[in-house]
Amino acid sequence: MRLSKPTRMKAREKVDLLIVNAEELVTLADGSDQPRIGKQMLDLGIIRNGALAIKNGKIVAVGKTPEVAKVFRAETILSANGKTVLPGFVDPHTHLVFAGSREDEFQMRVEGASYMEILATGGGILRTVRETRKAGIEKLVERGLKTLDVMLEHGTTTVEAKSGYGLTTKDEMKILEAVKRINQLHCTDVVPTFLGAHAVPPEFRGNQAEYVSLVVGDMIPKVAEKELAEFCDVFCEKGVFNLEQSRRILAAGKSNRLKPKIHADEMSMLGGAELAADIQAVSADHLLFSSVEGMKAMAEKGVMAVLLPAAALSLMMGRYADARLMIDSGVPVALATDFNPSCLVENMQLIIAFACHFMRLTCAEAVTAATINAAHAIGRGKEVGSLEVGKKADVVVLDAPNHKFLGYHFGVNLADKVIKNGRVVVDKDAERSAFPVLKEEE
Ligand code: ZN
Repeated sequence: MRLSKPTRMKAREKVDLLIVNAEELVTLADGSDQPRIGKQMLDLGIIRNGALAIKNGKIVAVGKTPEVAKVFRAETILSANGKTVLPGFVDPHTHLVFAGSREDEFQMRVEGASYMEILATGGGILRTVRETRKAGIEKLVERGLKTLDVMLEHGTTTVEAKSGYGLTTKDEMKILEAVKRINQLHCTDVVPTFLGAHAVPPEFRGNQAEYVSLVVGDMIPKVAEKELAEFCDVFCEKGVFNLEQSRRILAAGKSNRLKPKIHADEMSMLGGAELAADIQAVSADHLLFSSVEGMKAMAEKGVMAVLLPAAALSLMMGRYADARLMIDSGVPVALATDFNPSCLVENMQLIIAFACHFMRLTCAEAVTAATINAAHAIGRGKEVGSLEVGKKADVVVLDAPNHKFLGYHFGVNLADKVIKNGRVVVDKDAERSAFPVLKEEE
């Protein structure tokens, strides 16, 4: 058992919450504070009949139930008998804040239109930009909070959120201000990313260079000065921002203390993975068309690959990132929803199942990718993503006897309870017992 401090034998120390009798306590603790690569992704640090002690929002002990119960007592004790307990999911790539929806474009995709064809006719991102520019901050905050509620119900306790539907200095700042407010109002931790280079807005069509100058010379310094973002991202893609422009934007971010992230090689092999390695990005995301050399370069520089199988599925690409090759090459791999108006999915459990089905990750690898590696993808690897003494008590109790059910039993919400900062914030048992009994008496 790991303890936060030496304890005396006689009086049991009082904590706020004990979770006991877990069939599987998936700790993901391996004694390191590094992202997991290769075979390390298989090691979930499982404790059978496991227990957690939680105090002041933090984990103070992790171990076998009899050992933890000998040392600690609590007024609130949760039994996880027959269940799986694991760290709250971390979703390291979302476009959380936007207005409107695009279900009719989904219909067009079903009928065969490509994403780039829809974008070229003023749809796609640009349509959401028009609606988001019109929306007031209150409306954006309200909508974002609702999305976080759904994410939390499915076990996600930390979320990255990008701007990118404003594309003017004022509107990008508005979105990031909304992200800040959402983070203050919701128990979920929200990590902000500036993505002013998400698309070229219509008023700059044919004059991309000038828009890049606006991003570099005006947006980035203002976002950095107001501390509205931790990361700077760019959509590096044919017809959007080329390699040179992407490099310029990420370099400007870096010199303003915004750590680089990149949407890379999603729809074509442009060399985004190589660029990510070259500028030592924290993560490169999508990577459907990345070259073998690009993956090797990412492995060498420790750039996290954030894979988004739901995005590839919803765009009906007919292919997925080569996650097996990445893991075998030593690239650290994380998973995310890519929640956005063309990929409207909040549920990380489903992403784990997709990663298993479409990219042949084992359930263990997918769980690692959705927790500790996802935390590293957004600079939170020391605080969340595993169940270890001193980390935030962000915990999911699954109504499943082991973690393999996350890939196997999909399309339902297996999260029975969600604990954020030591507080039970989702409790399906309590909800169930509140259902009225409608059966007629005989
Ligand atoms: Zn994205």
